[in-house]
Amino acid sequence: MAALDAVVVGSGPNGLAAAVALARAGASVLVLEGDDEIGGGTRTAELTLPGFHHDVCSAVHPMGILSPFFRELGLSDHGLTWIRPPASVAHPLDDGDAVLLYRSVERTGEGLGADARAWSRLVGPFLDEPHRLLEDLLAPLRVPGSPLRMLRFGLRAAFSANRLARLWFRGERARALFAGCAGHSILPLGQPGTAALGLIFSFTAHVEDWPVARGGSHAIARALASLLESLGGRIETGVRVERLVDLPESRAVLFDTSPDQLARIAGDALPAGYRRRLARYRYGPGVFKLDWALDGPIPWRDPRCLEASTVHVGGSLEEIAASERDMYRGRHADRPYLILCQQSDFDDTRAPAGRRTGYAYCHVPHGSSLDRTQAVEAQVERFAPGFRDRILARHATPASAFQRYNPNYVGGAITGGVADVFQLFTRPVARLDPYSTPNPRLYLCSASTPPGGGVHGMCGYWAARSVLKRL
Ligand SMILES: Cc1cc2nc3c(=O)[nH]c(=O)nc-3n(C[C@H](O)[C@H](O)[C@H](O)COP(=O)(O)OP(=O)(O)OC[C@H]3O[C@@H](n4cnc5c(N)ncnc54)[C@H](O)[C@@H]3O)c2cc1C
Repeated sequence: MAALDAVVVGSGPNGLAAAVALARAGASVLVLEGDDEIGGGTRTAELTLPGFHHDVCSAVHPMGILSPFFRELGLSDHGLTWIRPPASVAHPLDDGDAVLLYRSVERTGEGLGADARAWSRLVGPFLDEPHRLLEDLLAPLRVPGSPLRMLRFGLRAAFSANRLARLWFRGERARALFAGCAGHSILPLGQPGTAALGLIFSFTAHVEDWPVARGGSHAIARALASLLESLGGRIETGVRVERLVDLPESRAVLFDTSPDQLARIAGDALPAGYRRRLARYRYGPGVFKLDWALDGPIPWRDPRCLEASTVHVGGSLEEIAASERDMYRGRHADRPYLILCQQSDFDDTRAPAGRRTGYAYCHVPHGSSLDRTQAVEAQVERFAPGFRDRILARHATPASAFQRYNPNYVGGAITGGVADVFQLFTRPVARLDPYSTPNPRLYLCSASTPPGGGVHGMCGYWAARSVLKRL
């Protein structure tokens, strides 16, 4: 058999995106997936009771719907339907109504009191031609296509989320809303640069309502796989790659894996110095996740919370900052900040009629095996009294179990490694072309390369471009 152009190890969204980008350029591609099912972080399973379909990892996809690569693929022709909720985010507070993040800046401002204009001034500059800005943000370090836009973004993004929120807003509501968005960074909110993710998540909500994938997040992987196969690419599941020599002959190998697996599998095919640099890669904190089968919608004190695909549960900026500071210092927060998703409120395929699925996770120290069920449910109960009475069944996944589920989640870290200012663009190591390695046949294409975690496929896309240059 003639040698393949490329073998991709792993079928997460980045592995599949890389394979699609290569196949579209006419390359012959084989994807090898260790699990019995494709998808990596985009799988859906009946984790609790029959008929309740839970997203095992990713749930809500602002970066998926806005991904410059996915947008040009026509994934709807391959079965992917994005369902848009009325609001992207709800942020319940103890004393008063929840804050809602709507597509409309004006409508969002109505819930922010005196900070309405400040919110508009914060996100407004990024809303003319947002897709051009996203092309620069979801890319490796390079001369930006829109330098002025990027400069403007960078001047705000360089702040810590904590500082930007305090400087920019006067009231608790806008500060909390911004902190909830910045909390996705899995970094302490006092760290410089953490405003970046707060800004990205805030302005993208005004471009697209953060959607869920109809049927479950696995629809994203299945659409990519269907497209790949239509282009002549092949996928084999149940093939865990342990050594380079076991791979079929190919001109390039792309690893949709963690850097430590790349080093281990490639072994002597990579110089010892490069492997030592990979070994210094920082993975960061993990997550503890709960999935629930519920006998109805979550009884939020403010029922408008049911309009949002994502609910940031954690109260004020100060509280969220304390939670994230604790977990980064290796402590389990007493009142953890939660990212809670309500897919079944918008997608009736997820649960039996009248019932709901529930999904929430909090950040925990690296490798934690602690069961945080009590703390997580207490936080939901705080803003939705009677929530516990709705629970029919639950499924808990501590950080340590996430690594067993997917070896890419080292220590339970879910986004491919720490994305602070030191490691965001130098992932996995500082290198002009971060996807390439010193071995011209081997590449990394996972979330441990720029632009980092999330279901957008851009790491895979850029890795494929690097491969195509050499092929
Ligand atoms: C709990 C949780 C919630 C999340 N929520 C969201 C969200 O709401 N929105 C969002 O955009 N992102 C979310 N993410 C992050 C997102 O899932 C990841 O950033 C994304 O899946 C990374 O894609 P990837 O292709 O780089 O790697 P993965 O998705 O991790 O895929 C890697 C694949 O490679 C396979 N593999 C690994 N090693 C080998 C080997 N040696 N041989 C063969 N196969 C191998 C694995 O089995 C896996 O299928 C979440 C993640 C988790 C865990």
